[in-house]
Amino acid sequence: MRIISVLPEHEAFANSYLLIDEETSEAVYIDPGYFLDNAVNAIKNSGARVKYLLLTHGHFDHILGAHAAKETLGAKIAIHPEDEKCLSSRLYSLMDTFDVDAEIFPEKADFYIIDGDVIEFGNSKLKVMHTPGHTPGGVCFISERDRVIFSGDTLFHSTAGRTDCIGGNFEELCASLKKLISLEGNYTVYPGHSIATDLDHERKRNFIIRRMK
Ligand SMILES: [Zn+2]
Ligand SMILES: [Zn+2]
Repeated sequence: MRIISVLPEHEAFANSYLLIDEETSEAVYIDPGYFLDNAVNAIKNSGARVKYLLLTHGHFDHILGAHAAKETLGAKIAIHPEDEKCLSSRLYSLMDTFDVDAEIFPEKADFYIIDGDVIEFGNSKLKVMHTPGHTPGGVCFISERDRVIFSGDTLFHSTAGRTDCIGGNFEELCASLKKLISLEGNYTVYPGHSIATDLDHERKRNFIIRRMK
């Protein structure tokens, strides 16, 4: 599986990731917060055929480009059922909270993803882990073969997602972080914001995980 990070053109938006199954060129695109030239070009240059748009959660900075990406790529939108309402709501997507000056094109899930689901593209697989706390329907995508986790806004380098917005819950976030660090062995972690990290670093150095023990 080849991983291409598509970094946001504006700091208010999230990291997006293009994951390509190299044997078949089938691909998934994680968190199309925006869907502008750099995202379109990254996909075009890679020769990938994007099958699914996978959403780690429903906040605007991760989902606002989902409509355009679906139209352009013909890919299917997948989100946890508890965050689906964000796709058509300025309130639940936090656009009102952050006074985001953009249009939301109401979308629905083409299919739901829940804990334990396995998403297949080509010969690659991603396992879904439900990790509520930052939002009720937050998920992480995990490749055991490639030892990588796409953690959305649940786990960041040395810290974790905020829980003070609508739908947030600190106890749930802590339980989700515990589930992640209970995975066996080390994994590279690609978060929704800022730089990549790995589980061993977070087990030792994460500000919130250290205080949970
Ligand atoms: Zn975010
Ligand atoms: Zn978020």
